[in-house]
Amino acid sequence: MSARILEGKVFAGQFKEDARKRAAALKEKYGVQPGLAVIIVGHDPASEVYVRNKHKACEELGIYSEVIEMAEDSSKEEILARIDSLNKDAKIHGILVQLPLPKALRSSEEEILDSIDPVKDVDGFHPVNVGRMVKGEEALLPCTPHGCLKMLELAGIEIEGKKAVVVGRSNIVGKPMLHLLLARNATVTICHSRTENLPAVTREADILVAAVGCPKFITADMVKEGATVIDVGINRLPPAEPGAKGKLVGDVDFEAALEVAGAITPVPGGVGLLTVAMLMENVVQAAEMQLA
Ligand code: NDP
Repeated sequence: MSARILEGKVFAGQFKEDARKRAAALKEKYGVQPGLAVIIVGHDPASEVYVRNKHKACEELGIYSEVIEMAEDSSKEEILARIDSLNKDAKIHGILVQLPLPKALRSSEEEILDSIDPVKDVDGFHPVNVGRMVKGEEALLPCTPHGCLKMLELAGIEIEGKKAVVVGRSNIVGKPMLHLLLARNATVTICHSRTENLPAVTREADILVAAVGCPKFITADMVKEGATVIDVGINRLPPAEPGAKGKLVGDVDFEAALEVAGAITPVPGGVGLLTVAMLMENVVQAAEMQLA
């Protein structure tokens, strides 16, 4: 049996279309365009690509976008001052600070992220939004796990009552994924580097989410026959020859798992495409909440 492949572009396209319509409705009703400000500090090449993609997505969907480029040696105080002025800026409904920050600022990361007004926290990382999510209240939700959940729903995969296993317990993927699945009445287990006999746990999963950051970590024998496998991992393998670009792979051994799973996301072309689309939805949601 070969699994159904859950193509990210199909779902991302639907999320973006939804965001475009809701942005147009806000323009019509209030004469206001939802606005996103992205702060990028320094010149990390991968971050520059991500920020360009976010800006492009905003332009496509009728969302106002500002990219604020700050010098590598910016101080914590300078960044906090920029965030403070964006918190007060009525054109801006969503603010995000592109991570990672330069090394010298890493110890201030939490203070910087927590200074974003929770109603504008479109990454969903602020403790207020995390708390609301855990309580099942309306909140801005972290884009990647929220995108995974919405994809499962749109794909018609049953969640309620099913056993879900999340491998990885980071604050940005694993833990929020746990809460979002729990809120949909799945029975959820979360695993990490100290979990004993991991394959026995993952083989129980009707829905298996891999967010580990290790190439092809989940092998076919760790997957239950017919399970839905969501691969969040993005790993670049070493290049085959010097100067070439290494291949992108997920946390799941895709080709092997394809023969066991019922449905599976590919890498690239899976979850990665959902994240920017969900960010657009969050900007629109933030604008709706602020304008209501
Ligand atoms: P982190 O490094 O923050 O967390 C990795 C988690 O995996 C940790 O909880 C760790 O456990 C767990 N882990 C590590 N080794 C093992 C092991 N041998 N057995 C079981 N668990 C293990 O990663 P992120 O959550 O930030 O990201 C995970 C992956 O998802 C990465 O590849 C990242 O690039 C990708 N990603 C993709 C996104 C997208 O848009 N598609 C967005 C965000 C991330 P412990 O806590 O015990 O250390």
